[in-house]
Amino acid sequence: MSRDIAIFWGIAIKRAGNLILDLIFPPKCPFCRKILYHAGICADCQESLPWLDERENLIKDPDGFSCAGALRYESAVREALLRLKFEGAIEIADPLGVILAQAAAEIFYGEFDIITWIPVSAERKAKRGYDQSKLLAESMCRVWGVKPVCLLKKIRDNPAQSALPGEKPELRESNVRGVYEIMPGAEITGKRVLLIDDIRTTGATLREARRVLMTNGAASVRAAVIALAGKKSGRKSGKASRPSENPGKIFHAM
Ligand SMILES: [Zn+2]
Repeated sequence: MSRDIAIFWGIAIKRAGNLILDLIFPPKCPFCRKILYHAGICADCQESLPWLDERENLIKDPDGFSCAGALRYESAVREALLRLKFEGAIEIADPLGVILAQAAAEIFYGEFDIITWIPVSAERKAKRGYDQSKLLAESMCRVWGVKPVCLLKKIRDNPAQSALPGEKPELRESNVRGVYEIMPGAEITGKRVLLIDDIRTTGATLREARRVLMTNGAASVRAAVIALAGKKSGRKSGKASRPSENPGKIFHAM
């Protein structure tokens, strides 16, 4: 058998395998769980989700640290992220990663050369079985044909940020202080890092991770998340930042 024929049959078998998997486990919309013909988001959710437009999709700290987001953290978005985080719905990381790729490419095009994520601790990962932000980063990177790099390690399991009173942001800052370390051997000197997480609430977690990355030589750090919390509903439905047909086309090279 020639090499070309072997490749042809390899691809054909893989596609047939995917087709069978789709029949047994049909793709569902991550937000309303409607069964779909193709993985992605259903047309109704495309229309009705609280997409952030260009006036809302970027938060900048006073020191210039930027965080991009695609959606407002409410309703079906909140439910989908909770299912990903706490109910083992890891399959929804794929369509969510595509949304993340779209937002990051639109807002930070050409502004980063390495992608990493906010990790959970080894204990949490062993209990949960996965790291949801890593899954999001991997899914996002697949759109661009690159791989995320593990740069951070969580060395201490702190109380969940969401369990702290929202009116006391200083508690959230102190709760995450010192919980991350740089991975041994991580090469980030002079690198522009894109940091991935599922949600930004006050930004305390992202700021602490950024501090560690900058202390260890990163040239810059930007963040991208699926959802920004605390954004007021200004519109019934957002349209400006809805994913395009093929977000991979937006971003050719890093
Ligand atoms: Zn839907």
